[in-house]
Amino acid sequence: MNPAEKKRILIIEDEKHIAEGLSLNLTLKGHAARIAASGAAGLHAWKEWRPDLIVLDLMLPGIDGLSVLRHIRLEDEHLPVLILSAKSELEDKVKGFAFGVDDYLSKPFHLEEFLMRIERLLFRAPLRGDRAPSRGDGPFLSMPVYAFGANRIDFGAAAAHGQWGRIDLTELELKLLKLFITHRGKPISRGQLLEIGWGYDRHTRTRTVDNFIVRFRKYFEPDPKNPIYFKSIRSVGYVFDHEEKDER
Ligand code: CA
Repeated sequence: MNPAEKKRILIIEDEKHIAEGLSLNLTLKGHAARIAASGAAGLHAWKEWRPDLIVLDLMLPGIDGLSVLRHIRLEDEHLPVLILSAKSELEDKVKGFAFGVDDYLSKPFHLEEFLMRIERLLFRAPLRGDRAPSRGDGPFLSMPVYAFGANRIDFGAAAAHGQWGRIDLTELELKLLKLFITHRGKPISRGQLLEIGWGYDRHTRTRTVDNFIVRFRKYFEPDPKNPIYFKSIRSVGYVFDHEEKDER
């Protein structure tokens, strides 16, 4: 994605794990995301950061979501807004209001659906020519091929080449590998991996994450029992790293 096309998405949501999960996923899609944990903080960030799209929870501490939206609509009729809310609230309120809600999702929702709706809203949104392109906020994902050690991951072909020859990678494996690579050298918790990979499926356990790491080690580690790339960090999660000279 061209950096000039990178969109700013403001998430106004007080449930920390939801906000962070969405933020990380939007970042992985190449957007810039920011979180505001209350209505007041959301309005402040809207004024100051000038997002291209707002994800807005209805039940917020202080100023509630619909008041936030009403406030925004006084000044900006076109900014795309995606409402997140519990189903009962939606039916009682949002459908009856003509506040300029562009789209809404009831909780719990599937991550893929959320991302699809975001892209659709961004696609539909009018071009805003008055803004300078943003730079340098968040990891920038344009990595068709990534190499470390004897391994080469080809994101375009959804395959890895390494000590065992070619391995086809699933969409989920590619997603988690991108996450590790963009966070190289930084620990990632099991909870974050779970949110990113599996979204809001409450039946998924941290054990599932561990199984993926076992698989990555089999694919990529010279000695899977003594990992050098995908290391465990006790009581935290995992970290991916490799020597600089490995990059080719
Ligand atoms: Ca809430």
